[in-house]
Amino acid sequence: MNTINDYLVVKPRPLLSAEAIQLLLLREVLDYTVLRTEDSREINSVDTPLSIKDSKTVKRVAFLGSKQKAAESRELESLLRSACSAANFDAKECWLKDNLCLECPRCALFGATALSEAPNIRHRIEYSTAFSLLTFDLLTEEITFNAVDEKTQTTGQALGVRHVVRPASLFASIVTLRSVTRSELILAVKTLLSSKSYGGETRIGGDCRNTVIGIVAGWEEIITPLELTLELYERRTNIDRAIIASFLEREYKPKAGTPAKVKVLSDSEIESVISECANTNIDNAFLADAYKAVKEYRGQQGG
Ligand SMILES: [Zn+2]
Repeated sequence: MNTINDYLVVKPRPLLSAEAIQLLLLREVLDYTVLRTEDSREINSVDTPLSIKDSKTVKRVAFLGSKQKAAESRELESLLRSACSAANFDAKECWLKDNLCLECPRCALFGATALSEAPNIRHRIEYSTAFSLLTFDLLTEEITFNAVDEKTQTTGQALGVRHVVRPASLFASIVTLRSVTRSELILAVKTLLSSKSYGGETRIGGDCRNTVIGIVAGWEEIITPLELTLELYERRTNIDRAIIASFLEREYKPKAGTPAKVKVLSDSEIESVISECANTNIDNAFLADAYKAVKEYRGQQGG
């Protein structure tokens, strides 16, 4: 973790500083998955260039940031609940979306809106749309199903149609951590690695696996998910951390506002950060420290 120490803060604070850690991810959908907003029947899609080298417009599937965030916030909620229970750590109940405690590391990292007069907590984990590597027509299909009669619980004659994304579809994605502490980085990485379910309210499919394919830190964000998608399209048969690190270093670091503060992690450095995060135990001392930091943060807000 020493490689990115300079980009972590000692305590979370209401006023953000510039330190940003971008976790570059490949999100692999592993079951038929409905990626749409609730009120639309269509899969979310967006027109983009084909690749960094070919500006021809194509349609891609969009995996909205709000959907990633909702699933991962819930994942961290349940991780904290299990950790608190296993460590006999007494913490206030906290659940999405109407009973946020504003005292726990999830509320501090993901942000929370207070129901009372208390000040809100601003999020320091940032999500944006993830784009499919391949084009819409290659990844989606319609499945028909026998609609179940709610009353008799039998399938009738009526057939429904669902638009779904096929298993093994890949999405390039970036989660950005702003002014986070060491323990917040650990919790965020654990959450990304353990999150497997993105189906949400649809109860259909939604299985997904996240792999960290790059880490870049700086006093700003270095690359956007769309740029990452267009870069990876060209390299889709060989997605490799060393190759990603080299184009970040060559193409994106020089374009930064403060290149001297940009740190692109190598394959082995990424491996060591990930394994340190994964292997850190969320024990009583870890929890006590993390909850105390949130308490101090709230104190600084004057609420
Ligand atoms: Zn909470």
